Amino acid sequence: MAFPTRGKEEFAAVYMPMQKLVKVGFGKMGRMKVPITSHAIDYGTGTFEGIRFYEVNGKAAIFRLNEHVERLFASAKTGNYKLPISKEGIRNAIIETVRRSGMTSGYIRPKIFLGESSIRVSPHPETHVVFHVYTQELLDYYKTGQRGDKGMSVLIASKPRRTPFPNSKMSGAYQAGAALAPEASVHGATENLYLNSKGEISELTGSNFFMIKGKTIFTPPVIRGEVLPGITRDTISKIAKELGLKFVQKTIRPNDLLSADEVFVTGTAAEVSKVSEIKIPIKNGKIATYAAGRKLPGNIDAILKEARKKGIVPKEGVISINIPSKNRSVEDPKPISYVDLLRDKYKDIVHGKEAKRQKWLTIVDRVAPITSAKEYFSKHITESGLNVHEMPDRGIWELLKLRKMGPSGRISAGLGVGKRSE
Ligand code: PMP
Repeated sequence: MAFPTRGKEEFAAVYMPMQKLVKVGFGKMGRMKVPITSHAIDYGTGTFEGIRFYEVNGKAAIFRLNEHVERLFASAKTGNYKLPISKEGIRNAIIETVRRSGMTSGYIRPKIFLGESSIRVSPHPETHVVFHVYTQELLDYYKTGQRGDKGMSVLIASKPRRTPFPNSKMSGAYQAGAALAPEASVHGATENLYLNSKGEISELTGSNFFMIKGKTIFTPPVIRGEVLPGITRDTISKIAKELGLKFVQKTIRPNDLLSADEVFVTGTAAEVSKVSEIKIPIKNGKIATYAAGRKLPGNIDAILKEARKKGIVPKEGVISINIPSKNRSVEDPKPISYVDLLRDKYKDIVHGKEAKRQKWLTIVDRVAPITSAKEYFSKHITESGLNVHEMPDRGIWELLKLRKMGPSGRISAGLGVGKRSE
């Protein structure tokens, strides 16, 4: 399996609460080791972000970095993960990691998670809190992000995605999506679309959902706490007006898709991606396609309800709603695609072509990388009385090494730091 190329270096900060210590350092990508006894591995206790950077005038420009850091902190608060580093410190760590990666475009994955702990769900007071960030290549995520692309097929999942904290990016919250996601490929779809328990549309596994009707964009409301307040979603809400479109948060049911002019999804990875087909699993193994969905027999909600009642399994079939790729309701001899217009504008913004939106870009200058992570981070520590230690470059990657068990049989100090023994 070929994974995308990662940047050259990663950054880690480890907070050791009982030792009043934070260890920080940059090191060679792929060397960091996480013990199998980490709390995050057993219980999914962590949170992460996904950020993109694009090439602008030969330099890396990070898109909406502040908003991503804000959301990371909000998620960390939800998870009660205490990392005594300021937002500015985290922002700087991300910028520095991008600088050291030598890449001018790509994806950034920062995360906060609980390291080694005892077996209890309640984290041991000595549990270390780890911040880690790396960069990697990321191209067209859904392979439908280009103008003229037909659009992708999505499958309404056969079960609602029951997930804790759907409005934050908690690692564990993705388990329900990960478990149901393979259904989509069974039916030749790219991604699952989830309904809530009332049969209303929420979002996809890793992106937000939108339907265009006439000159209005409809999207499920964030307020109900069933969808992630996506940063791309927010970008769309702000640029819609400039294209003469209204942005409305509203409950959407599968039936509403029958009269959609266009459908699209957004996300940092997904960017703005068109949807050309929505598949709904049904009983009887029949796969029926109906032009623009308008001739669909009966009521989709009723069909879905019935299917669920009968406990349909993915292989038993789907019905498909074909979504037009152009906005037909616009009284224009040449129908236009608002999704294409939104995507073009989005791409202009991320590539620094819109002066008004340049405040959303953090340009990473090619100054010499900082040498002392300790010096760099000392000023960003928010808790008094903490010491900042530089992890020796070659030692950083053993920072999560298992310590000896205490007399009680519990891990006495969680994580240890040592030099590599090669
Ligand atoms: N919903 C979910 C579940 C996601 O994982 C993502 C990707 N972060 C999104 C929506 C889109 O959010 P954003 O635009 O901030 O990337």
